Amino acid sequence: MDLVFLGAARTVTGSKTLLEAHGQRLLVDCGLFQGLKELRLRNWTQPDWAPERIPNLLLTHAHIDHSGFLPRLLHHGFRGRILCTPATAELAALLLRDSAHLQEEDAEWLNRKGLSKHKPALPLYTAADAERVLRLFEVREYEAWFDVAPGIRARFRNAGHILGSAMVELEVQANGAIRRLLWSGDVGRYDMPLNPDPEPPPEVDYLIVESTYGDRTHPAEPPLAQLQPLLERMVASRSILLVPAFAIGRAQQLVYMAREAVASGALPAFPIYIDSPMAVDATAIYCKYPDEHSLAPQQLSGPECVLYGPDVHLCRTVEESKRLNGLDGPALLISSSGMLTGGRVLHHPRQRLPTRSARSHWWDTRPWARAAGRCRKAPNASRSTANGFRCGRTWRTWAACRGMRTGSSCCAGSNRCAGCRDAASSTTVRSTPRRRWRRSCTSGAGGTQWPPSPGSASRWSERRGPLRPVAAR
Ligand SMILES: [Zn+2]
Repeated sequence: MDLVFLGAARTVTGSKTLLEAHGQRLLVDCGLFQGLKELRLRNWTQPDWAPERIPNLLLTHAHIDHSGFLPRLLHHGFRGRILCTPATAELAALLLRDSAHLQEEDAEWLNRKGLSKHKPALPLYTAADAERVLRLFEVREYEAWFDVAPGIRARFRNAGHILGSAMVELEVQANGAIRRLLWSGDVGRYDMPLNPDPEPPPEVDYLIVESTYGDRTHPAEPPLAQLQPLLERMVASRSILLVPAFAIGRAQQLVYMAREAVASGALPAFPIYIDSPMAVDATAIYCKYPDEHSLAPQQLSGPECVLYGPDVHLCRTVEESKRLNGLDGPALLISSSGMLTGGRVLHHPRQRLPTRSARSHWWDTRPWARAAGRCRKAPNASRSTANGFRCGRTWRTWAACRGMRTGSSCCAGSNRCAGCRDAASSTTVRSTPRRRWRRSCTSGAGGTQWPPSPGSASRWSERRGPLRPVAAR
């Protein structure tokens, strides 16, 4: 039995793991590499793992870093079936169509501006590719075992990450023995609004854990306790609270928490605007699967549906979005993208910032942006725009600030502020366990370099006993 990690190794996107066992090959997840250019370029390389010889693919959840490479896989000959939960199939349709649309839009923009060395610049995949790959989806319910291939069966267990998210449990017959494996996928937090707690993992021989934020501790304070003071401030100052939020999962959680705060009597009623067509569609899918999250069916039906309700306004069209420019507070405005890297959300700070008098607050859930928020509050930090902010005497771009999280030298200046210092020191803490881990792996596990060098896959094999790393290819 061999496992090959083809993505999400030494980076957090592009999740793809190939299992070769019992003469069978299957892939778990097929995500897009996102972020820096060197990562995005990996989406364009020719796979050396023969996608045309993979008859089965198991999908843990719909997020693009786990599903976004699927339409491209068709170009490389994949014609197998894609197995996932029903809600994941619906959300993946939403996300893959949107992703294809963005790919086409980017290529068209590069060609129109003449900014690409490729003539013409091509999209990674098109809307037609997305439609073709959606026909390969087959759904399976949570907890029910199903046969994947001769000698391999699987079942999905709720991972509590987003609607439809699942851990993949596999039973593989290998050399007369049964091996049990579990892919965690992205694992949700306990006691989160809307999401169920993740199922406890079963006893397995091999546990493959996805761990994007595994080196950080979540704050003990519940999310609503963090949000409520900001909502109170928003109501008291009659301002707009703008929250960049992921369209799937986070947007619905925010609506639910805000409505809970009003229902408990802690706050007077205020309007909530969801400015994201995808978030609007995703909310409808959430309402369709009441058994798969923590809300009761009666909370999701009728005019008092906790995700819609009379105070929730849905902005699907561009005109509806533009009308929000004239919006007066108090109001909660939720828009995408969640990382503030694109989408409609960018228009709102452009409209409302920078002025000292702009009555807009931010609640930004990204760690690097929280550090930037502290920079902005420093004595000399008087200006900020959608592109950057002033920190002491230095103008920093949001992109540079994002670098603080990964230990970039953007905070090494002598006039760095308290926020930057915090970010820099947390980077130091983060790098220590990884160094230690690498040292123990290189000395203890057959001298194989781990994590593998960027761009290479890492192969683990069970041919002579327990899984161990073999030469990366
Ligand atoms: Zn995810």
